[in-house]
Amino acid sequence: ENFKELGLTDELLLAVEKSGFTEPTRIQEITLPLILEGRDLLIEAQTGSGKTACFAWPLLQKISAEKTSESKTIQALILTPTRELALQVSGAFYRFGEFLENKVSVLTVIGGESIDQQTRALADGVDVVVATPGRLLDLIGQKVLSLSDIKFLVLDEADKILDLGFAAELDLVLQEISGKRQNLFFSATYPEKVLEIVKRISAAPEHIKI
Ligand code: AMP
Repeated sequence: ENFKELGLTDELLLAVEKSGFTEPTRIQEITLPLILEGRDLLIEAQTGSGKTACFAWPLLQKISAEKTSESKTIQALILTPTRELALQVSGAFYRFGEFLENKVSVLTVIGGESIDQQTRALADGVDVVVATPGRLLDLIGQKVLSLSDIKFLVLDEADKILDLGFAAELDLVLQEISGKRQNLFFSATYPEKVLEIVKRISAAPEHIKI
């Protein structure tokens, strides 16, 4: 199947084409239609599988279609274990959002970068936050960032988030989130501790193993 048949709009297709991608990877082929439908998924995915696009494309498409000039609240949170991954993910959002007429704003919330700059961006309104747990909690604590209205939650490399010792931070982040939303979990492995977190967040995510 090609990208169009999987449900991507012309605005996304332009950016995909510009990236030089000619066909979807296997995980994209399987998950894109399901994610566009709004399902909760638990996806086994290694780095290099094309997993970032599996959530970046649908989220860009949906948020762009739904946001109005008044929307000031954060629509999506992507939680990552490391700064490097956060930067890669936000890079993908910038790249693939290039041709959207209704722009989606993205902020990378990571340590080691100016907290004032992140605070100012948040005050202007941000649609998608890509974050590591520590700095995210700092900004929540300072009341400059609220997750109360998010419509999409993505845990990227969930196993690594826990392996790096962020379980307590993750707990605190999850306490900030409520309400109905689409949940997507990406993990290379499935230890019990990952499944526990998943169970707490989502009632019955579909398990995709390739
Ligand atoms: P990821 O697994 O998301 O880290 O992606 C690994 C690499 O594959 C990145 O450099 C992506 O830009 C690239 N990629 C993602 N989807 C495709 C595709 N359909 N065709 C070719 N390359 C892709």
